[in-house]
Amino acid sequence: MANPSTYLVAGAGVAGIEAAAAIRDNDNDGRILVAGAEPHPFYARLRLCELVDGRLEVDRLVLRKEDWYRDHRIELMQGVRLDNIETGTATARLSDGTIVSFDRLLLATGSTPFVPPISGAELDGVCTLRTIDDALALRELASRESGSAVVVGGGLLGLEVSVALSNLGMSVTVVDVSPWLLSRQLDPEGGEVIRGILERRGLEFRTATTVESISGHGRVEGVDLAGGEHIPASLVLVAAGVRPNVRVAREAGIEIGRGIIVDDSLETSAPGVFAAGDCAEHRGRVYGIWPASQAQGRAAGAAMAGKDVRYEGTTPSNTLKIADVAVFSIGRVDVEARPDTDTVRDKDVYRRLFRDSEGCLNGAILINDLSERKAIANAVEAGTPYGHGGG
Ligand SMILES: Cc1cc2nc3c(=O)[nH]c(=O)nc-3n(C[C@H](O)[C@H](O)[C@H](O)COP(=O)(O)OP(=O)(O)OC[C@H]3O[C@@H](n4cnc5c(N)ncnc54)[C@H](O)[C@@H]3O)c2cc1C
Repeated sequence: MANPSTYLVAGAGVAGIEAAAAIRDNDNDGRILVAGAEPHPFYARLRLCELVDGRLEVDRLVLRKEDWYRDHRIELMQGVRLDNIETGTATARLSDGTIVSFDRLLLATGSTPFVPPISGAELDGVCTLRTIDDALALRELASRESGSAVVVGGGLLGLEVSVALSNLGMSVTVVDVSPWLLSRQLDPEGGEVIRGILERRGLEFRTATTVESISGHGRVEGVDLAGGEHIPASLVLVAAGVRPNVRVAREAGIEIGRGIIVDDSLETSAPGVFAAGDCAEHRGRVYGIWPASQAQGRAAGAAMAGKDVRYEGTTPSNTLKIADVAVFSIGRVDVEARPDTDTVRDKDVYRRLFRDSEGCLNGAILINDLSERKAIANAVEAGTPYGHGGG
């Protein structure tokens, strides 16, 4: 009988942990090692803003307890990173000095916040939010400073963290290069609805402009916008997107595009080495969202354990709650590409459907009334008609 396989997973986020679970589902005997750079076990990264303003504490974020790892015979190494790999000999060196010979390796190393090259970005008080440790540091800083904050980026993370900082008593101004908020999830009118609701809660916005520089002496004291406006601030939170963590793959000679390039079985250009989640690029696409990372992790794990897997992509969708405002967005919502649209707007309730030329639904935005979410999601995923007598 062949020796059991050794699987090494780098990254204990949703992609890595879903993959480890899928490996165990398909291989009862293999050894599964997960090296996670953070000193915490797998947690709900997308709920970090609730940790920032104290609605949740760390133990409530943790998604798998110790007995889950024990029951699945998954060896989790917390605070240990994958430093480098040699694909020829299928060996990996970890930050604690361990050398692992693997049969299959998964790179599930996620992404890192992108900080644009703005002068003053190195000042104390300029921060980003990606990890539990970032969230705790931000909470501490916001509680101590309690003055004004500028948030660079009016996307999903920027708005959520703005509300959290406002809950901690800070006056918050959001600056976004796009003319409307949540420009990846919403159309201009949807963005306007969200802006109106958040303005009534005391948040301020500067859209269609950029931060030219951050000023201060050692510590941040304010930001200067492209149009010349100066906004005083004791804290600047940069939420301007992320960049995939590809260093280990690049140094090993694995093919990189914007992320680590994978095929439909999530395998990279190096046989036996797979990638999934925020660090991976599949069919030209780097998703950067939880559902795609989860689906890729699951598919990669099954493929690593020898299953014939074909991952065909994920329909991007987001369900958010920003200051009690429920928002759902799915599929393509770029209005230019969709002449045939269907809109309802009534104060803070907004619903817009996007159809293709045959009347089939391929995108939707719902704000403050999510009652049709499931039926709409099914129609978008299936590419079938909806509404107008279609469903
Ligand atoms: C505050 C916040 C809110 C968000 N909200 C949403 C949302 O509402 N909806 C949504 O869809 N998405 C949201 N996201 C994005 C979502 O969290 C990510 O898409 C998802 O976590 C990606 O999962 P992943 O497993 O690929 O990477 P990650 O979750 O980033 O996990 C990767 C892990 O690998 C570790 N690592 C890195 N390098 C190494 C190495 N060399 N060796 C070992 N370990 C390594 C990292 O430290 C990290 O712990 C949010 C993100 C943040 C930060």
